[in-house]
Amino acid sequence: MKKAIVVGSGAGGATVAKELQGSFDVTVLEAGREFQPLTRSLKVPERLKRMKLLFDEMEIPLFFPAMRIQKTPDRMVHVRGIGTGGTTPLGTANALRMDHDLKKMGIHLDAEFEELSRQIPITTAHRSKWRETTNRLYEVCRDMGLNPWPMPKMADPGLCQGCGRCIFGCLSGAKWDSRKFLRDALAQGARLITECAVKEIVSQNGRASGVKARTRGRMKFFPADLIVLAAGGLGTPVILQASGIPCEPRLFVDPVLCVATGWIGAWQNREIPMPFVVQKEHYIVSPYFDHLSYFFNRRWKAPARNILSLMIKLADTNLGQVTRRRIQKTLTPEDKDRLKHAVDFCAEILRRLGVKKEDIFTGTINAGHPGGMLPLTREEAETLHSPRLPENVYVADASLLPGPLGNPPSLTIMALARRVGRAAKIAHS
Ligand SMILES: Cc1cc2nc3c(=O)[nH]c(=O)nc-3n(C[C@H](O)[C@H](O)[C@H](O)COP(=O)(O)OP(=O)(O)OC[C@H]3O[C@@H](n4cnc5c(N)ncnc54)[C@H](O)[C@@H]3O)c2cc1C
Ligand code: SF4
Repeated sequence: MKKAIVVGSGAGGATVAKELQGSFDVTVLEAGREFQPLTRSLKVPERLKRMKLLFDEMEIPLFFPAMRIQKTPDRMVHVRGIGTGGTTPLGTANALRMDHDLKKMGIHLDAEFEELSRQIPITTAHRSKWRETTNRLYEVCRDMGLNPWPMPKMADPGLCQGCGRCIFGCLSGAKWDSRKFLRDALAQGARLITECAVKEIVSQNGRASGVKARTRGRMKFFPADLIVLAAGGLGTPVILQASGIPCEPRLFVDPVLCVATGWIGAWQNREIPMPFVVQKEHYIVSPYFDHLSYFFNRRWKAPARNILSLMIKLADTNLGQVTRRRIQKTLTPEDKDRLKHAVDFCAEILRRLGVKKEDIFTGTINAGHPGGMLPLTREEAETLHSPRLPENVYVADASLLPGPLGNPPSLTIMALARRVGRAAKIAHS
């Protein structure tokens, strides 16, 4: 059987590995280790916060290695997962179909979404678990005519304990993440090599022969008939550029900013995150306890249970890039305007809940939805293959998205990755 290499095991990688195994002999090369959720209590970082001994978000991987943090010079914090499942085990399980831009380009993913909906448990049946303050916020949003709706979750609400620790990995087994698809691929005979960071594609005359990767301190060549890059919106462009394949400086990241207030007994830190969502033209708003801001932003005062926060997730201008050494991404004046508008909007929601303007504070700008540096074009709608790539190399992650979603992207990335797998099978098996 022909050999395929899939680089990365996140939303895109695990999906495409499952799709290809059987038609190809698949090996998944994953830079990180087996994902381990954070099992420790948050009491220790809580104590360190109170003693003012937590200084910088870059300290997070010291106690939670699966979370990789990078910062841009203007202090935007970029979060991603390195390990099996990629960023999905850190996710808050939101499952939205966000393919309108792809549809406009002639990429119709109905069949893929339909299959995913049969394979992934997606539910909105978590309302009975909302805290009183969340219910009140929901009513305020409804009374303001904002059309809030419960967020569809890739989770089993029966198992969810509402612990609020989704971003540290789920300990109860309630949350679905892409390790399930990875396990399915492995059960069908695929191979997984962890701690194997792909550096470049080796190719000649428009065809790749394999990849070079660093694994356990040594560089190694992995031969392949087909290569699918799914190292994520920050990982794939670095491999492409190291292989002499230029990317577009069209990085988007969906920046997040929380607007918060003190609220006795909010207990949002012990509740399913992002329980409902309000969709606006350039951003979404959703209740969210931001652990990153809580632990590292001095405006966020202990105890955690007494903070109430609304998350803004902005669809930023797709302008920026990632290189081997750094992420170049700043908010444009238009992004800043939209963010300011969104902050005022959240402040108004809080005001209607009874919060005084002077009691409102914001969090740290962070981002976790990078993509867009090898965006699909109309011409690629059938093949899903960029002419920049060697004929037997595909990309199957957020890099393909034509623009920012300002919304949870995993489900759409998985639908796209499935289609990429199919296109690759037709062309190469
Ligand atoms: C805190 C947080 C919460 C989120 N919550 C949600 C949510 O609720 N719903 C949602 O839809 N989205 C959510 N997201 C975003 C979502 O998880 C990502 O957009 C999605 O996982 C991206 O998929 P991907 O396949 O592009 O990359 P990833 O899932 O990041 O996978 C990339 C994989 O490639 C590996 N890799 C990287 N470089 C290399 C290399 N050189 N060689 C080999 N392997 C490599 C990584 O280890 C990783 O396994 C969240 C993100 C964050 C940070
Ligand atoms: S809130 Fe629910 S889904 Fe999230 S980590 Fe806790 S138990 Fe798991």
